[in-house]
Amino acid sequence: MDRHFDLIAIGAGSGGLSVAERAARYGARCAVIESGPLGGTCVNVGCVPKKVMWYGATLAHALEDAAGYGFDITRNGFDWARLKAGRDGYVNGINTWYHTYLTDSDIAEIPGRARFIDARTLDVDGERYTADHICIAVGGYPTVPDIPGAELGITSDGFFELDTLPPRVAIAGSGYIAVELAGMLNALGSDVTLVLRREHILRDFDAMLRECLMEEMIKDGIDIISTTELAEVVRQDSGKLSLRGCNGQHLDDFDQLIWAIGRTPATAGLNLEAAGVATDDNGFIPSDRFENTNVEGIYALGDVNGKAALTPVAIAAARRLADRLFGGMSERHLPYENIPSVVFSHPPIGTVGLTEARAREIHGDAVTIYQTRFTAMYHALTEHKRETAMKLVTVGAQEKVVGCHIIGMGADEMLQGFAVAVRMGARKADLDDTVALHPTSAEELVTMR
Ligand SMILES: Cc1cc2nc3c(=O)[nH]c(=O)nc-3n(C[C@H](O)[C@H](O)[C@H](O)COP(=O)(O)OP(=O)(O)OC[C@H]3O[C@@H](n4cnc5c(N)ncnc54)[C@H](O)[C@@H]3O)c2cc1C
Repeated sequence: MDRHFDLIAIGAGSGGLSVAERAARYGARCAVIESGPLGGTCVNVGCVPKKVMWYGATLAHALEDAAGYGFDITRNGFDWARLKAGRDGYVNGINTWYHTYLTDSDIAEIPGRARFIDARTLDVDGERYTADHICIAVGGYPTVPDIPGAELGITSDGFFELDTLPPRVAIAGSGYIAVELAGMLNALGSDVTLVLRREHILRDFDAMLRECLMEEMIKDGIDIISTTELAEVVRQDSGKLSLRGCNGQHLDDFDQLIWAIGRTPATAGLNLEAAGVATDDNGFIPSDRFENTNVEGIYALGDVNGKAALTPVAIAAARRLADRLFGGMSERHLPYENIPSVVFSHPPIGTVGLTEARAREIHGDAVTIYQTRFTAMYHALTEHKRETAMKLVTVGAQEKVVGCHIIGMGADEMLQGFAVAVRMGARKADLDDTVALHPTSAEELVTMR
C-alpha cells in the first residue's frame, strides 16, 4: 500500500467515514484509520442498537395498550437474549457492509490505533502514514466518575453487552442517554431508579419537555431521585450494589448500575503534542467554523470538537469539509444553529431551535409563546394515557418561529419537517396558512392559538 494520502481520517465513525467518502468522490486519495469496528459509536454502541431497543420497548407498551382496542393478549414472557441476538446481527450486517463499501469507494482501510508523529505523519501500530490533510474524528467514550467503587458500574457500552435483563437497575445521569436507557429498561421489565445530580433531567432542553417527560416517567413507575451526588459504590454481602450519596443517602439492592453522566473525548492517546494540536481543559479539540484546528491541514469534527454530539452533525460537518477541501467550495461549512434533535424516551421528544428561556434571554419581551397539551387520540381507547405537549417559540411582530418543541407519540418523526420550516425562517402565519393533516397530533402545530 502507498503510504501517502490526500486525506486521512482518524476514526471510522460517522464523521471519519463521511469525510473520506465525500473526498473520495471528488477523486481524493483517502484512508480511514480505525481501532475498533467500522461505523464508530453510532453503529456499534449508540444510535443504531439503541433504536432497536427502543422499538422493543415501544412494542412492550403497545402490548399493554392493545387491550383497549379489544385484543385479548397475555404477555407470556420476554426473551432478552433473542432481542440482543437480533440487534447484534443487524449491527454486524452494517459493519460488514462498510468493509465492502470502503473497498468499492477506493478508500484504504487501516485497522489500528493512530498517533501523531508530526503534523503530517501518523503511526499506526508501528507503520507510518502521511497525508496532506488529516481529519481527527475520534469521538469519545462514556465517562466514569472518579469515586470509590465506580468500576462496579457499567456504561452505555456495557448496557449493549448485557446478556440478561437486570431485575433492578440504577442509572446515574440526567442527559438524553440516561433517560433513554431508563425508559427502555423500564418498559422491558426492569425496576429502574434514575439518580440525578441536580433537580431535573435534560437540563438544556425546554422546560416544558423535561417537566412533561419527568411526569410520564414517574407515571411509568421509574423512581427518580434528584439532587443526589454519588460518593461511593459498594458491593453488598448479597452481591447487589449499594449507592452512597454525598449527603449520607443509601440506595441499596441494585443488580446493575449504569453510568450515563457524559462522554470524554478520545484524544488522550493521539500524541497531539507532536503535531502541536491544542485541546481545551476537557480534552476536546476546538475547531473553527470550517473545522480547522490550530494547526493548518489538521481538522477536528464530530463529537471530538465538543460542538454538538450527534451523528447527523458529524456527517454534515464532514461532508462540508470535503466539499471545501476537494470540491472547490471555499466557504462551505456547517452552521451550528437550528440543529434538530430527538430523544427516544417514552414518549419521544423532538426539538429544534431556541428554548423559551433562551429566547427570552436574547429577545426579551419580543418573544411570544404558543403551546398546547393534550392526550393523543391513540390513547382514547388505552388504559394508560400519555400526554403530548407542543411549544412554538416566536420572536418579533412577524412572529418568526425560532423554536419548536414537541413531546408525545410521533414527535420523533414529526419534527424533521418543522426543522426545515424553522431553518427557512418560517413565521407563525406560515404554519397557520398550511392546511392541517387530520386527524393527527401534528396538526396541532399548524392550528395553535
Ligand atoms: C448510547 C448512545 C446513543 C446515541 N444515540 C444517538 C441518536 O439517537 N442520534 C444521534 O444523532 N446521535 C446519537 N448518539 C451520538 C452519536 O453516536 C455520536 O454523535 C456520533 O457517533 C459521533 O460520531 P464521530 O464520528 O464524531 O465519533 P464516533 O462515531 O465515536 O467514531 C469515532 C471512531 O474513532 C475511533 N478511534 C478513536 N480513537 C482512535 C485512534 N486513536 N485511532 C483510530 N481510531 C480511533 C473509535 O474506535 C470510533 O470508532 C448516541 C451516542 C450514544 C453513546
